[in-house]
Amino acid sequence: MSIKIDVNKCVGCNKCLEICPGSLIYKNESNKAFIKYEKDCWGCTACLKECKFKAIKYYLGTDIGGNGAELYVEEVNDTLNWHITDKCGRDVIISTNRKQSNKY
Ligand code: SF4
Ligand code: SF4
Repeated sequence: MSIKIDVNKCVGCNKCLEICPGSLIYKNESNKAFIKYEKDCWGCTACLKECKFKAIKYYLGTDIGGNGAELYVEEVNDTLNWHITDKCGRDVIISTNRKQSNKY
């Protein structure tokens, strides 16, 4: 499991670099974020939740039943909308409330 960062959407805000507990994300000479060693990502999703520009997607591999689907997070007030897009382009949205996250 790992993340993918879309350099075309990244604005270089540093949020993902600051939040990654493994310090796995760096910036290139164009001020765009990238993950150096994808295999080291353990999929905590912290960076997805911090990126306000939908630049980070989480790859849902076959090993966890995702069959190559991708996940990104959109924040609307206290709600996190977890968008899961499969290979056919179908989008499933799971919404969670930040303030009630300990209940899930
Ligand atoms: S949080 Fe998003 S926009 Fe900001 S540096 Fe990371 S990938 Fe780029
Ligand atoms: S998912 Fe977690 S471990 Fe992986 S790059 Fe993002 S913040 Fe770091």
